[in-house]
Amino acid sequence: MITLDSYVLGRWQAGSGKPEILRDPTSEEPLAQASSEGIDLGAVLAYGRDVGGPALRALGFAKRAELLLALSKAIHAHRDELLELSLQNAGTTRGDGKFDLDGATGTLAAYAQFGKELGDKPFFADGPLAQLGRTPRFSGQHVWVPKPGIAVHVNAFNFPAWNQCEKMACALLAGMPVLEKPGTPTALVAWRIARILVDSKLLPEGAFQFLAGSARDLVDHLGPQDVLSFTGSSGTGEKLRGNKAVVRHNTRVNIEADSLNAAVLAADVARDSETYDQFLANVEQDIVQKTGQKCTAVRRVFVPAERVREVAADLVPRLTKVQVGDPRSGETRMGPLASAQQLADVRAGITALTQFAEILCGGPGPVHAKGYFVAPTLLLAKSAEAKVFHELEVFGPVATLLPYSGSAADATRLVNLGGGGLVASLYSNDKAWSDAVVLGIAPWHGRVWVGSDKTAGQALAPGTVLPASLHGGPGRAGGGAELGGLRGLEPYFQRTAVQGFQGYLEKLGQA
Ligand code: NAP
Repeated sequence: MITLDSYVLGRWQAGSGKPEILRDPTSEEPLAQASSEGIDLGAVLAYGRDVGGPALRALGFAKRAELLLALSKAIHAHRDELLELSLQNAGTTRGDGKFDLDGATGTLAAYAQFGKELGDKPFFADGPLAQLGRTPRFSGQHVWVPKPGIAVHVNAFNFPAWNQCEKMACALLAGMPVLEKPGTPTALVAWRIARILVDSKLLPEGAFQFLAGSARDLVDHLGPQDVLSFTGSSGTGEKLRGNKAVVRHNTRVNIEADSLNAAVLAADVARDSETYDQFLANVEQDIVQKTGQKCTAVRRVFVPAERVREVAADLVPRLTKVQVGDPRSGETRMGPLASAQQLADVRAGITALTQFAEILCGGPGPVHAKGYFVAPTLLLAKSAEAKVFHELEVFGPVATLLPYSGSAADATRLVNLGGGGLVASLYSNDKAWSDAVVLGIAPWHGRVWVGSDKTAGQALAPGTVLPASLHGGPGRAGGGAELGGLRGLEPYFQRTAVQGFQGYLEKLGQA
């Protein structure tokens, strides 16, 4: 069995004590073990701040951007090996493994590109000089400067490669050293990537550390210049935000949590239109891709009441023909859930939803004798008003059709019952309807995706998170904001207004 060690304080270190066991979710066989016991996490954070931070910031933006591209290439060179590990430890099909891994290397490469334009200044200007006195002689310049702390990244199990690399890309480019802590059940891929990065010797010592196993008291050691960026469930997010050290030091916290993502079919979309095909394909993809373990996957599908049976008749055959099984088989389109805990949670979640819904296909029952499998599951709600659909995230291949009146006002009200989401997708060719819903739900969402005949065949699916576009969402979704081009660097910066003589400010930071 592989022991996942941690790269901390300049060396690889295995934890002591009873390890957590990582399994192959297809066979349930143990694969690896991880423990963080015995590692002095306060010292680890200090090492990143004191050793990694200054060396990283001395490089400047342009050099750090070059490093991101080199890191991306170093990981990509191990693509087949990493896809195999993803299959073993996360049960991903090759396509699902690529979605995670190519997303990771693609995001690093994209930030290398975004970073090029920042040049070599030790800060970046936020807007132009502003006149503050009676003449421009006394002016002010807002600047973004890298925070001299450490960026602690606590990641979810479902995207072990992407989650680590998308956070790392922004923090390293901004000039902050990182500590990456993956979700334990699928940490094998994240650990192997850490090994590749350390072996590459591309980054200055201390700029990258990696913690395998439990976070233990990690968050208790955070200080005022540190950043905690977390991806995971709302429950854990709430705990971390309330941590005493975080509250005392006002440590910057970014939370990417769960979300009851919605799709809305408008009444104007005809059954034989391209927009309708786009709607069916995206809903199917969100249920099946990564076995529904995607924070952006659609969970609530709003359909005009008189058309729910028609939509059900079109979606069910697509879902029942999905081959569920061993991701090693070329026939398989959907692999298992990632862990025994996930299987238990998803089954319990489907059962809870069925108190208010009819099962159209799938359900909580076992699919194979071994492994953490569930079938793609589509439910039909008796009423869209039942709270459970807007509050319970079933993190698996499960979505519910919810009947609504077709009006923009009804769609807006129901979508917003989710309490804040990462993404909502609308399907309509009616401008007035689309405008009303987009603007009505925008305050409750990080991203609103509009499908129409104009984008059919062109648009990337709404579940896809892109480096150039914001990821995050208000309320239930955690209130976080990541990516979105250079906006993704903001959590790692302090914004400061520097006031003084105009001529001085114009040459700030220049020799
Ligand atoms: P989770 O149980 O909240 O765990 C997330 C991470 O937090 C893991 O690394 C976990 O470590 C760590 N953790 C747990 N308790 C902690 C504590 N007290 N202190 C510090 N760290 C702690 O979530 P998950 O089951 O891995 O992920 C699934 C959830 O993540 C879903 O609800 C999904 O919607 C959400 N998600 C959101 C996004 C997004 O971008 N918004 C993306 C992906 C997933 P261990 O694994 O070692 O326990």
